[in-house]
Amino acid sequence: MNTNITIIGAGLGGLVLARVLHVHGIAATIYEAEPSAMARTQGGQLDIHEDDGQVALAAAGLTDEFRAIIHSGGEALRILDQHASLLYEDVDDGTGGRPEVLRGDLRRILIESLPAGTIRWGAKVIDTLSLGDGRHRVVLADGSSVETGLLVGADGAWSKVRPLVSDATPQYSGITLVETYLHDVDDEHPEAAGVVGDGAMFALAPGRSISVHREANAVLHTYAAVVEPLDWFTGLDVTDPAGIATVMTGFADWAPALTALITDHDATPALRPIHGLPIGHEWSHRSGVTLVGDAAHLMPPAGDGANLAMIDGADLGLAIAAHPDDLDAAIASYEQTMFPRSRAAADDSAGMQELLYGDRAPQSLVEFFTGTHARVAAEG
Ligand SMILES: Cc1cc2nc3c(=O)[nH]c(=O)nc-3n(C[C@H](O)[C@H](O)[C@H](O)COP(=O)(O)OP(=O)(O)OC[C@H]3O[C@@H](n4cnc5c(N)ncnc54)[C@H](O)[C@@H]3O)c2cc1C
Repeated sequence: MNTNITIIGAGLGGLVLARVLHVHGIAATIYEAEPSAMARTQGGQLDIHEDDGQVALAAAGLTDEFRAIIHSGGEALRILDQHASLLYEDVDDGTGGRPEVLRGDLRRILIESLPAGTIRWGAKVIDTLSLGDGRHRVVLADGSSVETGLLVGADGAWSKVRPLVSDATPQYSGITLVETYLHDVDDEHPEAAGVVGDGAMFALAPGRSISVHREANAVLHTYAAVVEPLDWFTGLDVTDPAGIATVMTGFADWAPALTALITDHDATPALRPIHGLPIGHEWSHRSGVTLVGDAAHLMPPAGDGANLAMIDGADLGLAIAAHPDDLDAAIASYEQTMFPRSRAAADDSAGMQELLYGDRAPQSLVEFFTGTHARVAAEG
């Protein structure tokens, strides 16, 4: 089987790429490991930034569809200390420029915008090989393989395409998030709903945090951050109350209104160890292959990864549309834009980890939002 443009992964980066190509009359095929669009709940609410995510959706011709899925009110922000004392509050007055959407809704409008058959579901890539002259072979778990003229790794943190361009592997950041949910919170968990407010809430102490997003449909989506080496979590089962109790030992002196966001969970909790590629991860241009999104620049979450994946997809799609007969020129042009952008975002992500988990939390985050952060940093 031969296809000209093969994208691995139907995350936001791969989908925007395929959509921008389609808008320009260029066909591509996405190979996605998940068995169907509905196979996994796409949790989480994302703020979509004016300077990257929204630009990408405009390039994809989906601004109206995007506006239709915005969850209003989601830009409100609170910062608390571990005793649930309010240190900073920002209301959503509609002027923030970072409207919030559910990741599942965003993925759905992208999937629906592609011609039927663009995505091969249940197609898990297990290996990729260079055939020379810029051609590549992709080996699938079912034993079949695909040869392609341009191969794009949009397959996230543990990319099977990345080894074709780079030896880099994600390293553990030192932080693991414990993810929990509360549903129907106005009726079932009014105290939790009250402490969180209408948007995001960060409760911080050095080396610990509980951060929560109020999502559409009265859902609280919580991450408790535990700064411990990976082996601390070995054998820890957070689906078991005893496992959650172990996690909560680190939050022993926290306000019950905050710890209840974890202990009262009403959906199966999950452990999310956070990894990152080296800041400024780059590679020498390789003919016929490149990466977008987390595959290229995985970094600890700082609210921009999904936006970066989308702008990567849009930029690569536009570069291919501008150089349809010279895919290597398109890749080189895309990478020249993507590398410095990713480096800057990875620097920002590292800075955000310090604000969230460093010795000066929560004051450090308050200063970030009140604009005193730069002055305090300059004063040392
Ligand atoms: C806890 C947490 C919170 C976050 N919060 C935010 C936020 O608020 N805002 C924000 O902008 N970003 C956030 N991010 C970052 C964001 O989720 C990622 O940066 C973004 O999803 C990257 O998109 P992607 O398309 O590159 O990769 P992914 O979303 O990882 O998509 C990759 C796709 O490839 C598929 N795939 C993987 N391997 C294979 C294979 N071998 N064969 C075939 N298919 C494969 C996967 O199934 C998946 O569909 C957060 C990340 C985490 C961990």
